[in-house]
Amino acid sequence: MSEVVEHLAELTGFRDRDVMDVTLVTALRDLLTGPASVAIYRCVGEPGQQRWLTRARLRATDTVATADSLWVDPDLLPRLADHARRLQCLTERSVLQDRDGEQWLTMFPLATERDVIGVLEVHTANRPKASAQRMIASVLRIYHNFQGLLDYSERDTLTGLLNRKTFDESFLKAVSELPLRPQHHGAGDERRHAEVHPRYWLGVLDIDHFKSINDRFGHLIGDEVLLLLSRLMRSSFRFNDLLYRFGGEEFVVLMRCEDEDDAAHAFERFRHNTEHYAFPQVGRITVSIGFTQIRAGDSPAGAFERADKAVYHAKGAGRNQVQSHATLVAQGRMSEANHLSDVELF
Ligand code: GH3
Ligand code: MG
Ligand code: MG
Repeated sequence: MSEVVEHLAELTGFRDRDVMDVTLVTALRDLLTGPASVAIYRCVGEPGQQRWLTRARLRATDTVATADSLWVDPDLLPRLADHARRLQCLTERSVLQDRDGEQWLTMFPLATERDVIGVLEVHTANRPKASAQRMIASVLRIYHNFQGLLDYSERDTLTGLLNRKTFDESFLKAVSELPLRPQHHGAGDERRHAEVHPRYWLGVLDIDHFKSINDRFGHLIGDEVLLLLSRLMRSSFRFNDLLYRFGGEEFVVLMRCEDEDDAAHAFERFRHNTEHYAFPQVGRITVSIGFTQIRAGDSPAGAFERADKAVYHAKGAGRNQVQSHATLVAQGRMSEANHLSDVELF
């Protein structure tokens, strides 16, 4: 019993979801008698194109858990239909048990308040006893409750996107992966360099003339626009891009991709999707977007300011457009200097 309590204390001791999933598989491996493996798979991506992401997997002989990279290319992940029984566990929200060769495979659905998000798989030599299954189900309830609390503290209540509070931490995590000095390569080296060193991009998205939407249709309809726009963000960007509501009608995207063209395309796709979406009652709306590459040594506020200056430029240049801070600087249309006092006025 005390072993269970110790593991639960461990499980709820972190505010980091990645660590939590690893802690959960570790706890269950220790608590069950000789499981061959314990793994958590999450269903990621947009409806119709969803994939299985391995969040944590621990086999009997492993010392550390393995997982898919958070920034994995979704096309490389198995499709939901590739694991039919796992999918059945997810859709039926029920515990399933199968023979898998010499072993038993027990699958538990992982749910949040809103929906089922993944499956816990346990491989064991013998069929797990009812008491072991009850123990796993209880640990999972605590896991779910804690995830709910995390959501409550990290997510915006209206849209479910990440809130501003969590931005600095994920930004600094991204910056810590960047090379300290910019490296100079020949043009042919560019792609290889990008593979070795990740590149991160920060985009600031601001709805055009949102005040007039509130004025004409009222705040409730305004809020509905914000909610629908957040859904458009989820479907336009990749599942592993970090999407934030920064307050009001301003949103932030933190993404990892190889070069400026890829980043520009992703933002342009969102701008295009927004322009062509029919919002109930309101009709068409547009967004202005500014983006910048995150540099080694950047502060969250410094990078945000560059992207925000590019938004400001987009607004002055007619709205409904994507502007790159680096391009504006290269064209001499904006100074490099950081500090809001340096913003050019139109
Ligand atoms: P611009 O194209 O220059 O961005 O014009 P704008 O009207 O969108 O200007 P600005 O970004 O300064 O206006 C923000 C407006 O957003 C002010 C307020 O009416 C509205 N707003 C801010 N937060 C909320 C919210 O939570 N809900 C709703 N419904 N409206 C909000
Ligand atoms: Mg604004
Ligand atoms: Mg606005």
